[in-house]
Amino acid sequence: MRDLIDRGLMTGPRMFVSGYGLTISRGRAPSPGTADGVADVLRVVRQQIAAGADCVKMYGSTGSGQDLTGRQTFTFEEMKAAVDAAHALGKRIAIHSYGPEGARDAVRAGADSIEHAADMDDATLAEMARRKIFYVPTIDHNRYYADNYKKLNYPPKAARDLNAFVRRNLETARKAFLAGVRLAMGSDAVYTMFGENTRELEWFVKAGMTPEQALQAATANGAELLGMEQSLGAIRPGYYADVVAVEGDPLEDIQVAIHKVRWVMKSGVVVVDKINSWRANVRAGLAISVCLLAAATGMAQERWNPVATFRSWATIRSLAKLAARFNRACFRSATACCGRKRESGSRPRRPSWT
Ligand SMILES: [Zn+2]
Repeated sequence: MRDLIDRGLMTGPRMFVSGYGLTISRGRAPSPGTADGVADVLRVVRQQIAAGADCVKMYGSTGSGQDLTGRQTFTFEEMKAAVDAAHALGKRIAIHSYGPEGARDAVRAGADSIEHAADMDDATLAEMARRKIFYVPTIDHNRYYADNYKKLNYPPKAARDLNAFVRRNLETARKAFLAGVRLAMGSDAVYTMFGENTRELEWFVKAGMTPEQALQAATANGAELLGMEQSLGAIRPGYYADVVAVEGDPLEDIQVAIHKVRWVMKSGVVVVDKINSWRANVRAGLAISVCLLAAATGMAQERWNPVATFRSWATIRSLAKLAARFNRACFRSATACCGRKRESGSRPRRPSWT
């Protein structure tokens, strides 16, 4: 998917991928990321990089979803071997640890970033600041799990535990920021959470950052953590033209950056335009109408079969709903466009840039 996007064959974000994360053998079938012992760790790191990984991820503790145990998994020696093997091949390594022990050994081993960790002690934070190791706290994904515990089939107790972890995670982020540790924004990209990823910025502000510092954590710091600070994370000559326009001032209110994005440019190409979208809506409406027609024709030609018909009807209903939505959006943008033309001399309101 990364390569298809890079070649322009698919629309999507600029991806930096880690392939399989390294994990010790733990109660499930081994994956290509499973490694036990230093020799295995070296093999898996090299194989993932050979397979095209941009960076390496290592699960240095338990903890994921409703599991908040955070018990260290890989030993210090294994972490050191992974860090050295990744660095020898010019790649960065992120070490996952929910608990403080795995984070402490990951810092000693020289990881480039520590993901998730709560309850890190002062000595570990001081060492992170000294070695310029990034902390990627990913606070908000646990808020998301807690808010959606029913949908995820977690028991009510899990929601309480997750919220308690969020509080400890936030406290650790606050301590880390005060200790001079640099933070980068990571969402943990939960596969059902898309559209909420930047809510992590709210927690950064709660941890004591100004909105500007929070935005830097999501842009300049992220670029530096990836080793891309010469081409990403800033608007400068020679950099990729990756720009968003928001409605309002995100330096006054971070919610503007989270909820009011109106326009997105990637590599100089506009990929989202909620300002001048009527043409896009017309195109989408037409395409959906064609699909609708094709589906109806297909159904008419089919011999009557209740299961197939039900499926077809369900498809048609959802397509019709989608078409109606686009048509409404099209109507709204068309009327807004005419309205603007009638106002002589007044320019349409443009969002501020950031
Ligand atoms: Zn992780």
